[in-house]
Amino acid sequence: MNRRMRVAVDMDGVLYDWIGEMVFLLREHRGLDIKRTDITSWWTKEKIGPKDWDWLWEQRELFQDGNLISGSKRGYELLKKIADAPIITSRPHRVIADTYLWLALHRFPCQELHILGGGQSKTLIPWDAIIDDKIEHAVDAAKAGRRAIVFSQPWNRDFPKLDVGLYGLIHRVENWKEVLDCVNEIALEISIEEAQDEQDSAGRNR
Ligand SMILES: [Mg+2]
Repeated sequence: MNRRMRVAVDMDGVLYDWIGEMVFLLREHRGLDIKRTDITSWWTKEKIGPKDWDWLWEQRELFQDGNLISGSKRGYELLKKIADAPIITSRPHRVIADTYLWLALHRFPCQELHILGGGQSKTLIPWDAIIDDKIEHAVDAAKAGRRAIVFSQPWNRDFPKLDVGLYGLIHRVENWKEVLDCVNEIALEISIEEAQDEQDSAGRNR
C-alpha cells in the first residue's frame, strides 16, 4: 500500500468489556441473578426487564469502569505500529466524557475518537477495514465495499455464513492476536489489488 492503512476499531465488545460491567452492576446493585454466560444475544432488555434496563443505562460506571477485553491494550498498541486506528463507537453522545476518561485511564494511544451515537453508519468515517463485534456493522462495511473483521463474541456466533466469508470482505477473529494477523493479511490483499489496478490502467493507456 502506498499510504498508511486505516483500521477502525470499535469500543464495546472489542476494547472495552461492556457486558462484564453490565453484569457486575446488575448483580451488585440490583441483585439480579445474572451471569456473563447468560448474555448470548445482542438485545438483552427482554431478559433483564425494562426497569433494571433503564436504571442500567443511567449508570456512568457502565461506560467508564469496565475492564479491558483481554489483549486489547497491547493489541491496539501493536496495531498502531502498522496502521492508523481511529476508535469508532455508537455510544450515546451523553457519555463522551466517560469514554475519554476510560481511554485516558488505560493510556490508549488514541489520536482519533468518533462517538457517533446510535443509528449512524460507521462507513461515514474513512477507513480500509473495521474491527467490530456487531454483525450489522460488518455487513454495512461489506455493502460499502470495505473490509470488516468480526471480533467473535457469544452474541455474534449465530451467523455461520460469516465463517465462509460473506461478500468475501468479512473476516472473523477469535482474539486480539488474530486481529493483528488478519490486518496484515488484509494489507497484503489491498496491495495486490492496487498493483492489479495500476497494471490494468497502464494496459488501458498503452
Ligand atoms: Mg461493539
